[in-house]
Amino acid sequence: MGFFSTSKTIGILGGGQLGKMLLNTTRQWDINTHVLDPSPEAPARIACNLFVQGDLMDYQTVMEFGKNVDVLTIEIENVNSEALIDLEKQGVQVYPQGRVLKIIQNKYRQKEFYKKNRIPTSGFEFFESKEALKDAVARGFVSFPFVWKSESMGYDGYGVKMIRSNQDLETISEGGCLAEDLVTIHKEIGVIVCRRPSGETVSYPSVEMEFHPTANQVEYVLSPARISNQIEKKAQEIARQVSEAFQHVGLLAVELFVTKEGDVWVNEVAPRPHNSGHFSIEASYTSQFEQHIRALLDLPLGSTQNKVSGVMVNLVGSENHQGPVRYKNIEHIMAIEGVNPHIYGKKETRPFRKMGHITIVNESLEIARQIAEQVKETIEVISQ
Ligand code: ADP
Repeated sequence: MGFFSTSKTIGILGGGQLGKMLLNTTRQWDINTHVLDPSPEAPARIACNLFVQGDLMDYQTVMEFGKNVDVLTIEIENVNSEALIDLEKQGVQVYPQGRVLKIIQNKYRQKEFYKKNRIPTSGFEFFESKEALKDAVARGFVSFPFVWKSESMGYDGYGVKMIRSNQDLETISEGGCLAEDLVTIHKEIGVIVCRRPSGETVSYPSVEMEFHPTANQVEYVLSPARISNQIEKKAQEIARQVSEAFQHVGLLAVELFVTKEGDVWVNEVAPRPHNSGHFSIEASYTSQFEQHIRALLDLPLGSTQNKVSGVMVNLVGSENHQGPVRYKNIEHIMAIEGVNPHIYGKKETRPFRKMGHITIVNESLEIARQIAEQVKETIEVISQ
């Protein structure tokens, strides 16, 4: 293996908070890192060895950046996947592989992939344009209610809308899209899987996600999920099946719906560190970020067991606040046992922008959840 005695470099496409948290491990292990991000104020900038400012979607920029590293990874999906495929051909180890990313970047290709691999997911139809979808609705081929999803560039629910009427239909954007069957969701859960080049695979216990009622962003992530052993077993089996089908390397966050009937369906996946895995920094034996670095370097994967229960609260910008950020009352929540704030270092706040997160650990999940609510009610992300 000999990794620690070499001068290998890991490159990360994207310098947001996920990149910054990956760099905790590379710092701990003294691994050289390069980061590419369009913003000169990218949160990860302070912790890498070399920061390059550039467009992640530009083929040449990604090729130039990738040529100078041994292992290339991502912390955001919107990168030029053609460049990744070509860098692989030139001998750079790219994890997740360009072919995996290409499938995931497009919601239609992703759903087709599940269908082809017999992975349980909700029914769907693809339409080339908004007009084609409207036409299918008018002819009665698609009926309300359904879930509209833009084919590409969806992020944090912005490319997703519940469509219950012709009026709703007017609000969707142009372009290729999916009309998905509306699932009667009992719970949204997630399983993070990690896979090494050799195929060794581990997975974290399911987490449970609670969403903000209007912003469609995750409000609390609970680890472990409050589900029966039977559902947990099903979720783990399906997540492993998805991982096996992709043959990815590194993390794969699998988002799942548990239906009222007790079925478990895949919603979508992300081949990178994920918001639903932040709890693992304090609550697990191995954090998702360390796990990803282990996989990239083909090192033995770590234990995914919880040391304690964890509840993660996203710190998002308050409504009606825009400008230089202030974390009001942070000193009050820090006085509570088991409260661990993470501040991403973004200078400006905007309504619902992810500015940080807080993980609350406790032997009891119930107590951690109660403290999480107290934390959420106390701290406020506002402008100065
Ligand atoms: P994004 O990629 O923008 O995060 P998702 O596909 O995860 O979008 O959808 C966002 C949210 O919309 C999900 O977490 C879920 O609450 C809801 N949702 C998505 N698809 C369906 C569906 N088929 N039925 C019911 N709700 C859905």
